[in-house]
Amino acid sequence: MKLILLGAPGAGKGTVAKLLTKLDGSVQISTGDILRSAVAAGTQLGKQAEVAMKTGDLVSDELIMGIMEERLKEDDCKSGYLLDGFPRTIPQAKALKTLLDQIGEKLDAVVEIDVPKDVILDRLTTRRTCSKCGAIYNVKSNPTKIQDVCDKCGGAVAQRDDETEEAISNRLNVYNKQTAPLVDFYQAEGLLLSVDALSSDAVVDAIKAKIN
Ligand code: AMP
Repeated sequence: MKLILLGAPGAGKGTVAKLLTKLDGSVQISTGDILRSAVAAGTQLGKQAEVAMKTGDLVSDELIMGIMEERLKEDDCKSGYLLDGFPRTIPQAKALKTLLDQIGEKLDAVVEIDVPKDVILDRLTTRRTCSKCGAIYNVKSNPTKIQDVCDKCGGAVAQRDDETEEAISNRLNVYNKQTAPLVDFYQAEGLLLSVDALSSDAVVDAIKAKIN
């Protein structure tokens, strides 16, 4: 399947994407993961993205489109993709539309995952992420078996740099200002599927019901 997962930070986009990859071999494409790897590796891309990421601001549309134009043409995208954290602005959504037209592809749906703000804040402050494979944990509801060690790959599990209270608050404001307008954009395109669900399994069920 070819989906965009839309939702505020902490809405569960990454968790839902990981569940969906197991259904039909679609790949999860997280621009946040791509950028974090680039920062960790100290590449040119990482250096350009680092400052904005740390404060919770968006990196430029140009940089993101450069990444996605390459990524969507890779072979593993043939069995479908789950776009997690992209697009995040109207210019990105428009550029994606042009790109998909060029490569002759169509999205199945844009899934808006709507989660109340208090739940989001609680999740983001208790979330922990593997710095190596990106696996997501939660100190309360889904801790690692060994403290700070990834169950899956043995990598170091820690709080992300942008999960300080200040950065979280900025990321939510940025979402409301720059990304929330995509809901109307995709509604007008006839692609929007809104799901009010607290559990990622329920979101997956709603997607399965819509797409099959
Ligand atoms: P995420 O893991 O999706 O929350 O992304 C982490 C950070 O990476 C964001 O706060 C932005 O600084 C940057 N980022 C990720 N995806 C995008 C995007 N599509 N457009 C602009 N910035 C992005």
